[in-house]
Amino acid sequence: MTDIFSNVIRRLDKAAKIIQIDPEVIHQLKHLTAAMEFSIPVRMDSGELKYFKAYRAQHNNTLGPTKGGIRYHPMVCMDEVKSLAFWMTMKCSVVNLPFGGAKGGICVNPKELSPMELERLSRGFIKRIADFIGPDVDIPAPDVYTNAMIMGWMMDEYSKIVRHHVPGVITGKPIALGGSLGREDATGRGAYYCIKELEKRLNWNPKNIRVAVQGFGNAGQHVAKLLFEDGYKIVAVSDSKGGVYHSDGFDIDSLIYMKNSSKILKAVYCTESVCEEVEAEKITNEELLALDVDLLIPAALENQITLSNASEIKAPVIVEVANGPISTDADEVLQSRDTLVVPDILANAGGVTVSYFEWVQNKIGYYWSETKVREKLHSSMLREFSAVCQMKKDKKVDMRTAAYAHGLCRIGEAVSAQGTRSYFAPRE
Ligand code: NAD
Repeated sequence: MTDIFSNVIRRLDKAAKIIQIDPEVIHQLKHLTAAMEFSIPVRMDSGELKYFKAYRAQHNNTLGPTKGGIRYHPMVCMDEVKSLAFWMTMKCSVVNLPFGGAKGGICVNPKELSPMELERLSRGFIKRIADFIGPDVDIPAPDVYTNAMIMGWMMDEYSKIVRHHVPGVITGKPIALGGSLGREDATGRGAYYCIKELEKRLNWNPKNIRVAVQGFGNAGQHVAKLLFEDGYKIVAVSDSKGGVYHSDGFDIDSLIYMKNSSKILKAVYCTESVCEEVEAEKITNEELLALDVDLLIPAALENQITLSNASEIKAPVIVEVANGPISTDADEVLQSRDTLVVPDILANAGGVTVSYFEWVQNKIGYYWSETKVREKLHSSMLREFSAVCQMKKDKKVDMRTAAYAHGLCRIGEAVSAQGTRSYFAPRE
């Protein structure tokens, strides 16, 4: 997994060509504000002292404090964290949030740790980076294999270090510890709002739309559930171990119940807590991506669709719920086949949008109802989805380039407001 960063920033050049933007803006976005690599010592339950490699990258803070999740995964590396931080900068700009982008991660398989080891590791991460984060500096959140409880530990650790209660240092916390109602399903819900707009524009009847979802965690489960409730046919889902397929579709509530209660993804139908296995074919993640479906939702990790499998993708529409599931090279193959891709920096922006709402609520100390959070999320997703579609139409480009251009206009304005070469250069 090397060189993702230099690959993903190529998308900036493509978007810059279709708008009027100072070259210094693009130049600035190709460099990071800061990137840290450190190790976290953890006393394991066995008594052994183990060190875990960890990272935090802060990409750009022109629009405000940096913001981005923390990932626990054995494959986390600096290149990945930098790319994810860059996407956060673009995403916050696309949906008009006063944040820049950041990302962090620990090189660990959290499934191999006991709950107490996981808590010590999470608190250790904050001990190491406490001087570099803060509610007005850099605000972490959950990502792959991290959750609300971990965010709660981290907030508590930070508050102990600075010796006062600071809920706004981290988002995605449990509700009881200052989290926001509506944060849990916000990423899936934001993507669902995008799909409802596509439904109108493409004249879809949900009953006829067959959907495959890769990755059945927080983001994947919620988007699948919302679509299922609307009558969409979810014919395939997968997790890291593989997937299940049935042409008639699955009862998504049952699959979610099974996955969350037993950690196993199984084709089941559940009445209350009694689950029976139903007919299904076992498929690999590669097979899921190549299914003949109407809508493909990658909701796992980056670089799932690359040059090597892009030509096998049959879905005419892809909604990127994961960050970076399609490589830059694969973009071109998909475009040549007229695949409509709703890009990650728009499709999964619901998560950071409600994280922003959580941060605002923490700052003012007054908490909103779930209805208010959802209304605000809906209107924000709708506004930015329409703006990106308008840019796509006006400039006759693909949706990803349109989203980048839309985001670039906002950051561009902020960078230019501080003065670029055209302002500072000596005049004749
Ligand atoms: P999660 O840890 O809740 O779930 C990840 C899921 O992906 C799990 O079901 C896991 O089994 C599966 N998975 C892991 N490796 C896989 C593989 N190689 N193939 C198929 N499935 C695999 O994580 P999440 O929060 O749902 O994040 C999923 C994606 O969405 C990530 O790219 C993340 O950056 C992005 N995202 C998440 C949020 C959020 O708020 N959680 C916000 C924006 C973007």
